Amino acid sequence: MTREIQHFINGQAISGKSSREADVFDPNTGVVQARVPLADDSEIAAAVTAAEAAFPAWSAMNPQRRARVMFRFKALLEENMDELAEMLSSEHGKVIADSKGDVLRGMEVIEFACGIPHLQKGEFTEGAGPGIDVYSMRQPLGVCVGITPFNFPAMIPMWMFGVAIACGNTFVLKPSEKDPSVPVRLAELFMEAGAPAGVLNVIHGDKQAVDGLIAHPVVKAVSFVGSSDIAQYVSISAAQNGKRVQAMAGAKNHGIIMPDADMDQVVADFLGSAFGSAGERCMALPVAVPVGKDTAEEFISRIVPEIKKLRLGVSTDTEAHYGPVVSAEHKQRIENYIDLCEQEGGKLLVDGRGFSLPGHENGFFVGPSLFDHVTPKMKSYVDEIFGPVLQIVRAESLEEAAALASNHQYGNGVALFTRSGLAAREFVSKVQVGMVGINVPIPVPVSYHTFGGWKRSAFADTNQHGPEGVRFWTKIKTVTSRWPSGTVEDQSFIIPTMG
Ligand code: NAD
Repeated sequence: MTREIQHFINGQAISGKSSREADVFDPNTGVVQARVPLADDSEIAAAVTAAEAAFPAWSAMNPQRRARVMFRFKALLEENMDELAEMLSSEHGKVIADSKGDVLRGMEVIEFACGIPHLQKGEFTEGAGPGIDVYSMRQPLGVCVGITPFNFPAMIPMWMFGVAIACGNTFVLKPSEKDPSVPVRLAELFMEAGAPAGVLNVIHGDKQAVDGLIAHPVVKAVSFVGSSDIAQYVSISAAQNGKRVQAMAGAKNHGIIMPDADMDQVVADFLGSAFGSAGERCMALPVAVPVGKDTAEEFISRIVPEIKKLRLGVSTDTEAHYGPVVSAEHKQRIENYIDLCEQEGGKLLVDGRGFSLPGHENGFFVGPSLFDHVTPKMKSYVDEIFGPVLQIVRAESLEEAAALASNHQYGNGVALFTRSGLAAREFVSKVQVGMVGINVPIPVPVSYHTFGGWKRSAFADTNQHGPEGVRFWTKIKTVTSRWPSGTVEDQSFIIPTMG
């Protein structure tokens, strides 16, 4: 019998009551391994009600105690790392080591959230006027919602609920229906760490669940990560419903290779960042921009043999560089983009279409592809492919290369490979992209800094985690206070100033 995945509401695993369900595949075999319920309005209401009921006590708990739950949760993540990684790989398809990285990057946000007593402190000014003190405090918002994509089913939920809950909010998570098991397991572990029932709830679903959560009058804030059109829709719809919203979205990141770059490092970095996790990372490097003909020729001559040596394998294959993509539809979509890029005039140097892994012929595997002579007008360049496809766009100068990244519709990440500090400094200052790497291929900021792109890579404002995350998940209250001193000041009808 097919396994039934459950919602996690008010501390309990609950079977879906709606008649709607979706398949959860094992991408290694192409076989349906479980069914996930798609929540209806009553299930959404139950999750929000549980979070609402948990809010008064949780938000009143002192921050050090909330932090202790985070410390215990971090320890449980470490203890359960193998189980989490295997579960994650079996639904997502990424190799086990990469799944551990997914959990670890989320765990780093939990480590950041352990510092919440310090992070959530307000400010104080003594004597802002005669006998007057001014102070500010950061208070939680209430019931908050996170809607997450398939590609980081551990890290991205923890970006959101880790900081939100540490700040005193309670939470409803709506993870991707493609790989929903790890988020439920995280919620179980979070309760085991000491979080009261209702503080973290997980409901599964599709657009109906997302719309229901956004429209729910009790929900105060919505954090979304996913593709750009849906992110834009969520940001507009949440704003119309009066919610605070942030919505991180799609990407097409450029890696610019200067003639003075360390080419050994460049080749190693592109192999990992263009093809790792089958290219299903929003901070992947799917576009290489070599500056100058010689740089392009050297890059191609060095990387082509390495791409041909890449090993695809099932996600439990410890020798594999990457595993299958998440679904049959996504495999088809990627292969369609390879067709398109060829039709548009891209020169196909390595063709990953039609790859079949012996013994796993129905798995969703896509071989690595490399295109040269891609141009900015091609649709296959403008769009996010989100697969193991590297496109080379040649440039004559750093200015031309930087303009490609700056003018692209997406502005999530960019990397510059060079030995020139001066060129790097100028580039960092001018480029119109939210996260920049200098000789770093996947410039995902550490948890105590902040994550977020520009342009169509992020809608609304305020980034994920770091101090920006604390700002997103709290509202500020500013108090101006004076205690009776026995002297009565004259009435004034003029706005008070400190002059
Ligand atoms: P997706 O947009 O298909 O799904 C994201 C979430 O939205 C899921 O929970 C899904 O159930 C929900 N959803 C799907 N259709 C919806 C609809 N019509 N209305 C409302 N909600 C809907 O994204 P995905 O395929 O799961 O993830 C890949 C995308 O996420 C890529 O575009 C990738 O670049 C992006 N991503 C961005 C970041 C970032 O921080 N910028 C990080 C990771 C992934």
